[in-house]
Parts: sequence; C-alpha cells; structure tokens
Amino acid sequence: MTPDLILRQARVWGRPGLADIAVAAGRYAEIGPAIGARGAREVEAGGRLLTPAFVDPHIHLDKALVGEDVRENRSGTLREAIEILWERKAAYAVEEIARRAGQVIESAVLTGTTRIRSHVDVDTIGQLRPLEGVMAARARSRDLVDLEIVAFPQEGIVRDPGTDTLLARAVEAGADLVGGVPHHEASPADQRRHVEVCFEIATRHDRDIDMHVDETDDPASRTLEIVADLTLAHGYHGRVTAGHTCALAAYPDDYARHVIAKLGRARVHMIANPATNLMLQGRLDPQPVRRGITRVKELLEAGVNVAIGQDCVKDTFYPFGRADMLEVALITAHAAHLSLPHEVETVFAMATTHAARVLRVPDYAVAVGNRADFVLLDAPTPAEAIRLQAPRRLVVSRGRVVAETLTEQHLFRGGAT
Ligand SMILES: [Zn+2]
Repeated sequence: MTPDLILRQARVWGRPGLADIAVAAGRYAEIGPAIGARGAREVEAGGRLLTPAFVDPHIHLDKALVGEDVRENRSGTLREAIEILWERKAAYAVEEIARRAGQVIESAVLTGTTRIRSHVDVDTIGQLRPLEGVMAARARSRDLVDLEIVAFPQEGIVRDPGTDTLLARAVEAGADLVGGVPHHEASPADQRRHVEVCFEIATRHDRDIDMHVDETDDPASRTLEIVADLTLAHGYHGRVTAGHTCALAAYPDDYARHVIAKLGRARVHMIANPATNLMLQGRLDPQPVRRGITRVKELLEAGVNVAIGQDCVKDTFYPFGRADMLEVALITAHAAHLSLPHEVETVFAMATTHAARVLRVPDYAVAVGNRADFVLLDAPTPAEAIRLQAPRRLVVSRGRVVAETLTEQHLFRGGAT
C-alpha cells in the first residue's frame, strides 16, 4: 500500500539521528533511517525537528476575542474581568460564540496544536449558550482538531442557584468533563459543597473533572486540598485536573509540601496558565510583586504531572494570546525560572507529553501504530524551537496535513543592489 505521506530525514524528538516517517490511514506506518517506498506526498524535512503535535489542555474558547467589544478592565483584576463579562454574556448568541471559537481553533491548528480542552461557562447568566456555541465550532472543526469541553461554573455553584442543574444538563448535552471553581464561593463550607457537587455529577455520569482551583494570591484559599481529598475518597486517581492553583505559591512551605504530597497520591494533574496569571495575579501588590503562578518546580520534583495552557485569548482577563503553545512555553520558562537544558526540555514536554497525559491520550508518541498527529518545526531542537518561536512547517492531524507555514525572509547587506 502506498503511504499517504512520507517525511524524509526528520529529527524525531527523543530519537537519535534522522529518520523517515511514513503515514498511512491516519497512523504512523513505518519509521526508519531510509524508507524505500514512495509516498503519495513526499516532504523533505531536512533535519528539522518532528514532535507530537501540541496539546492545549486549558483554554476558554467561549470568551476568546470578546476583548474587542467590552469595556476596559480598569483594575486589571480577575474579579473585574468576571464582572465585565456579565452583561456581554447575557447577550451572547450561539453563532457569534461559534465564530470566535472557530477563529481561535484555526489559530491553534496553524501553530501546531491538534488537541484542545476548552472550558465553557455554564451559569444562570449565559445558560447553555456558551456550550452550544463551542459545540458548533467543534462540529465545524472535526477534521482539524480534537476538542474536549469542560462545563465550567464560572459564577459558582452555591452562590449561583440553579447552576448544579445546568451543569448536569451540560454534561448530558455534550460537555465531556465537569469543571469547577470552588474558591469563588463565599465560605469554606460552600467551597467544600461546590467540590462535592462536581464529584456528584462527575461520578453519576462517569466523567473526568477539571477545575479552576485557588486562582488567587490569597494563602488562605485552600480548596486544592479539598479537591485532592475528594479525589482520593472517590477513587478518582488520575481523573482530576487542577488549573491555575496560584495560591499554592502563597502557602507556607510546610503546608504546600503537605498538599503537593497529597496531589501526588491522588495523581491529580496540574495546569499552570502563566500568560494570564502573570497579568492578573499580584496586580495590586506593593513591590516586590508576586509572580502569580503555581509552584511548577516543586510539583515537577514531586513527580506530579504539570502541563501548561493558553487559558485566555484577547478577553477581559488578558489582552494577548493566539493559542500558540510555543509562545506559552516561552512565557512559562520565564515565569517558572526554567532555563537549564533539561528544564527547557521539560517546558516543551509540558505543552506536549504532559498535556497529553492530562487529556489521557492513549497513543500520543511518535511510534508505529499510533495516531499520526505531529508538527514539523523549523528548528533542530525543542530549545531552539522555543527560542526562535520557530515556524510550524507542517502540522498533521489524524495523518492528514492540516496546516503549513512557509516563510520567506531577506537580508540586504550594504553594497547589495
Ligand atoms: Zn482558566
């Protein structure tokens, strides 16, 4: 059988030397020093780096690009970002959400991402319209990207009565996971109740959980331990993800160690979103200003799976972002002081293998028989890819070329005519 695609002389991440890669029927058919067959399409990789395609495990496609038509976030805080959205969210239309989400999905694919997990607000203001909008975008992008949707109670569960029912309806209507934001409740008792409700819905529908946890600099915000405790109690090991967890950085060291050990036992996945949190957290601090991101190094050292996500794209929380995981990796390296060669390699893994572990992708590696989702980077190593923000020459999803970037630059020295 003629392979659909053969890449010649690529540098496969983690494999010594150069290799040819043949793809057939959506999967890696052969990987070797020199494949004899001819492919229906042949690409000269020329020693460029080939890695599994990026995975963005935390983004908000329903809110993406609303920054264009809302008032400014004058305080620059998370609280004001949420409040500005109330009015906008009440006026949401499904088609408009689908259009914005679709635009960001395209941007993600063009920059090498083929798997995404998006949170969508589920609350009494927008009801299920954000879910319907992102589901419509998902249906239109099925040939480009795999998209998981988390039903996210942005306005709380106890403080927004009726949201528990909406969350269950969202899961029945097409959301894949149950989300949460327990620190947003008014009291420790309500915070615990919030996490309990999430587990009730998730266990009833046999779904994984992915929560926004302690997205605050307040060291008294301690819902992360509740999440770990209930994960252990429900036997949900490896099925729960905690995003943001900024307060973990503010905890006293001994309490942080205690919580991290528990996260390890519960195999909770952690996602840092440094782009947004560098912008929002520590916003009102006198100098020295806190960095606002979770304890990335300590979590990694404890063996916890830590990934990174874009989180926000030009919304009320954050004015930049283009769903480009190499950009997120570069920001992460700065925010988490990851600069040694092995640390930079880890940053790259946080946007690829670690993030794939969050999504529990079963066949992620570049290996024969696995689904062929990869990106060919215009750089020889992950560190160079991050440094140069290297063009994504070729992006392949399910064995099909879904994006290509061709660049042309010219330098004119003195004397040239
Ligand atoms: Zn988020």
